[in-house]
Amino acid sequence: MTTEPVAAEAGRDFIRDIVQADLSSKTHSRIVTRFPPEPNGYLHIGHAKSIALNFGIAQEFGGKCHLRFDDTNPTKEEQEYIDSIQADVHWLGYDWGTDLYYASDYFERLYEWAEGLIRAGDAYVDDQSQEEIRINRGTLTEPGKNSPFRDRTVEENLDLFRRMKAGEYPNGSRVLRAKIDMAAGNINLRDPVLYRILHAEHPRTGTKWSIYPSYDYAHGQSDAIEGITHSICTLEFEDHRPLYDWLLEKLPVPSKPRQYEFARLNLTYTLLSKRVLTQLVRDGHVSGWDDPRMPTIAGLKRRGVPPAAVREFVKRIGVAKANSVVDVGMLEFCIREYLNKTAERRMAVLRPLKAVIENYPEGQVEELEAVNHPDDPAAGTRKISFGRELYIERDDFMENPPKKFFRLSPGNEVRLRYAYFVKCTGVIKNDAGEVVELRCTYDPATKGGNAPDGRKVKATMHWLSAKDSVPAEIRVYNQLFSNPSPSAANFAADLNPESLEVLPDARIEPSVASDNSGEVMQFERQGYFVRDKDSAPGKPVFNRTIGLRDTFAKEVGGKG
Ligand code: ATP
Ligand code: MG
Repeated sequence: MTTEPVAAEAGRDFIRDIVQADLSSKTHSRIVTRFPPEPNGYLHIGHAKSIALNFGIAQEFGGKCHLRFDDTNPTKEEQEYIDSIQADVHWLGYDWGTDLYYASDYFERLYEWAEGLIRAGDAYVDDQSQEEIRINRGTLTEPGKNSPFRDRTVEENLDLFRRMKAGEYPNGSRVLRAKIDMAAGNINLRDPVLYRILHAEHPRTGTKWSIYPSYDYAHGQSDAIEGITHSICTLEFEDHRPLYDWLLEKLPVPSKPRQYEFARLNLTYTLLSKRVLTQLVRDGHVSGWDDPRMPTIAGLKRRGVPPAAVREFVKRIGVAKANSVVDVGMLEFCIREYLNKTAERRMAVLRPLKAVIENYPEGQVEELEAVNHPDDPAAGTRKISFGRELYIERDDFMENPPKKFFRLSPGNEVRLRYAYFVKCTGVIKNDAGEVVELRCTYDPATKGGNAPDGRKVKATMHWLSAKDSVPAEIRVYNQLFSNPSPSAANFAADLNPESLEVLPDARIEPSVASDNSGEVMQFERQGYFVRDKDSAPGKPVFNRTIGLRDTFAKEVGGKG
């Protein structure tokens, strides 16, 4: 084990400080953390924070991190989620090695320990209904009321609990509760439920069990069985810690983990509740868990977000003990920063407008040289063909431009990137009066984009040859919600009706169409794009990962 890198990493946040101190004091010789998702949905960017924290600490301090499925609620859990969670953790760049576990692996032991609690007089079977239990729990200001079943004998409790296990009772008819204190200031200590009856098929244990442990009962004991040293969870579990510790104290556990809480990630324009994400999918507001507008790892991946950008984002936001909301612009910044360095440049015309170069010879084609990355000569160059008929971006032309519009307009000269200076000499309109084609001339002396007489133009535009470009569908995404703090309760009202813009007639370079590398490319002046899985032979589909600048703040936030 090295001490240097450990020391360098310490102090980055309060949890790493604790870990460092525990190593220094020899409280632990090896750090073991875990990431414990419930397989009831896909992972999202908030989970990425937890993954990076748990796996990151294990890496930095020479320990290990387990992946443990907290599969204690079979009615909501599915194999699809188990598979996607493993794929997503790997995609983020982390690996649990052989340390893959399931809370359900411990069902037998948890059950035996529960019988032990009953024998010690620390647990009882309660026949109250869920509703009665809720009412009798009291409030923050009033103590709870003891259950009329609280003083059952050990024998009676054991008998009832065994029959619960044997499946003799219907769902909801009884629970096993810890016998702690119905007047405790902390409501989590008012005889919390340890087991409930649930006749449901479990993805791993099938129909073997008719009772399932609660989160509070299963979680800490799973930590203890696995020898977790630091059980890191989000702040809402702070009030559960006394119960976590109470159970570790009462049970014959092989180790005593400690729970630490940190602030969960919240992002503007984003909801990270699994309930909401599930609803978005089920109600068809998005195309699936991997819809590129979703804050899921699968969505980010499909959108072309590189895992390194997610890791950088998580590192920048840090780990704190107070809840806050992070500007989604921070995530976007990290994505742009990474892609600007790595993405090769290409040209694409998203909303094409045909431009015919009248003085360019009919049938002639020229191969011009284009640079693949302005800051990376090793990325090389490629050929793009120029011809008489081109496409330019519709937005780059205005028939009656305002004063500061420097792009193409009648009589105005611009540079076509890597090609020539061109001038617009006329427009052709359809019956509705819309411009459908431009007539232009080019200056053959400006090949490569510079005029020998030194004259300047104020705009450089991207373009593609009409003949030697390929049609593509391009999907441009905006925030899924138009409200910076969308309502989780009524999220449908906050959905952004313009979150997806489909551009069915875009044009791309032929090499882009045939590229199957999955790499993100920068389409010059338009942003970063990646090929989508919906691509079919002859019909490529591209997702815009992100625009070049933070235009969103301007569009939504008013003037900018
Ligand atoms: P829900 O949306 O119902 O709250 P969950 O996010 O708690 O579900 P889990 O599968 O239990 O779902 O989460 C696994 C781990 O990820 C937990 O340790 C949890 O604390 C952590 N986690 C979940 N959401 C966030 C978040 N937004 N920021 C940081 N960590 C999170
Ligand atoms: Mg949870």
